[in-house]
Amino acid sequence: MDCIFCKIIKGEIPSEKVYENDNVYAFKDISPEAKHHILFIPKEHIDSANEINESNAKLVSDVFIAIQKVAKDIGFAEGGYRIVNNCNDDGGQTVHHIHFHVIGGEKLGWPPFPVK
Ligand code: 5GP
Ligand code: ZN
Repeated sequence: MDCIFCKIIKGEIPSEKVYENDNVYAFKDISPEAKHHILFIPKEHIDSANEINESNAKLVSDVFIAIQKVAKDIGFAEGGYRIVNNCNDDGGQTVHHIHFHVIGGEKLGWPPFPVK
């Protein structure tokens, strides 16, 4: 499968690793939108949020536990942050390996507007 995030997990494409455990890999977004912009992915390939099911849901909860740990370790958990998952075309998903953007370290705007 030609998936850039699977290649990042395997080390075939370099990345700036932030955190890793048996099920989760986290690395800096190549094009950061805020002081901290980290991508969290399950090591097992899941296309998008549409493919979360009873058998792989633990991987997604593992991602959220990893997010909380990294946010605390780096020091932006208390101040607050945003977790974003873009799903498919209308959601703006460009890499079809499910990933959660964690954006923090400064005050963020809201809401995200539809493209006119
Ligand atoms: P999406 O638009 O699918 O929600 O987010 C994909 C994210 O992956 C984008 O924020 C983009 O900057 C990031 N990205 C794409 N290719 C690479 C890469 O090769 N390395 C890293 N570190 N980030 C990438
Ligand atoms: Zn993948």
